[in-house]
Amino acid sequence: MKVYLDNSATTAVEKEVLEAMLPYFSDIYGNPSSLHSFGRQALKAVDESRQKIAALLGAKPNEIYFTSGGTESDNWAIKGAVRASKNKRRQVITSAIEHPALLETCEALEKSGEAEVTYLKVNKEGLVDPADVKKALNDDTVIVSIMTANNEMGAIQPISEIGEIVRGEGVLFHTDAVQAADTLDLNVNALNVDLLSLSAHKFHGPKGIGLLYMRSGVRLDRLINGGHQERRQRAGTTNTPLIVGMAKALEISVRDRERNVKHMTELRDYFIGRALNEIPYCYLNGGTERRLANNINLSFGFIEGEAILMSLDLKGIAVSSGSACSSGSLEPSHVLLALGVKEELAHSSIRFSLGRDTTKEEIEYTINTLKEIVDRLRGMSPLFNIEKRTGSYV
Ligand SMILES: *Cc1c(COP(=O)(O)O)cnc(C)c1O
Repeated sequence: MKVYLDNSATTAVEKEVLEAMLPYFSDIYGNPSSLHSFGRQALKAVDESRQKIAALLGAKPNEIYFTSGGTESDNWAIKGAVRASKNKRRQVITSAIEHPALLETCEALEKSGEAEVTYLKVNKEGLVDPADVKKALNDDTVIVSIMTANNEMGAIQPISEIGEIVRGEGVLFHTDAVQAADTLDLNVNALNVDLLSLSAHKFHGPKGIGLLYMRSGVRLDRLINGGHQERRQRAGTTNTPLIVGMAKALEISVRDRERNVKHMTELRDYFIGRALNEIPYCYLNGGTERRLANNINLSFGFIEGEAILMSLDLKGIAVSSGSACSSGSLEPSHVLLALGVKEELAHSSIRFSLGRDTTKEEIEYTINTLKEIVDRLRGMSPLFNIEKRTGSYV
């Protein structure tokens, strides 16, 4: 059995999405910036996609800027805001549990001396306290960036509440909504944001395409210089097929959201319930209330996450230990450490991220396999055997 439980790393392109894109690779290949009929035909598809996406986000078409994905959108929002600011000292406020696309951008700006960055702490459920945002704001603040939902442990932030505080002070508010797009309702007005990043491959669209929503009136420095595409704000030949694919993928995601969220929530809660009941020294990272429908993040005492990941892989089950971007390094997840998870338990964590096509059968198979693997690995753990002998093993 093959089970893909790594939908937070990337998702499969929907068949309908692939079909919508195909003509734009071959038949309708004109450059949307060209004035002739080939170009105009492509431009029509791009315009329609922009309108569709804007409507789904409660935005205006000219507030949508296509980019190469979530990473570029995050870079652009922060660097663009800092570099466009007239503030003498430039402060950025963000959280300690952002995606590397955001954190590394902030670190680069600190290093170059372009900005000072305040990293807000989170509670053990991974939530930012809006009161902390208010306290951190000062006259130098250029932009506040807090992710809509966390990619590792699924915490859903009080974005709208934070937006009210930030925008009330005349400061820009950005959210990385990449991980939230498939399961949460994203309306830029309800969320109270000026800037929002999305990436198509996290909601069953193609890789290499994303967008930055930029509220009318917001001015950012350009990140990519060159031609006049995207109203002169983001250069590079317009990627017609991928844009068409992203619009189709978002349309499907919103259309089927209620059903998919219900399905994934049921599987998630069943999985968590069984894991906590049937596996000793198994802990849920993050809370149960404000959590993405598809996210499960568990730690297993006395075992390395990598060992579990590789054993599951041998059984055809794909998961992630920590975030996909930091797998391969031995650093424990910065997100789990920020939640106050002990280093050993952070090392033993596994993220299971469900998808709309995940079945109950796959979940049963995964839990049963997981139990066997945890038992076997613990059998080889000297620490666990000491624990067992001293009698605290239940
Ligand atoms: C995947 C992800 C990104 C990066 O998006 P890409 O399109 O892969 O560059 C950024 N932020 C979050 C929260 C993500 O999950």
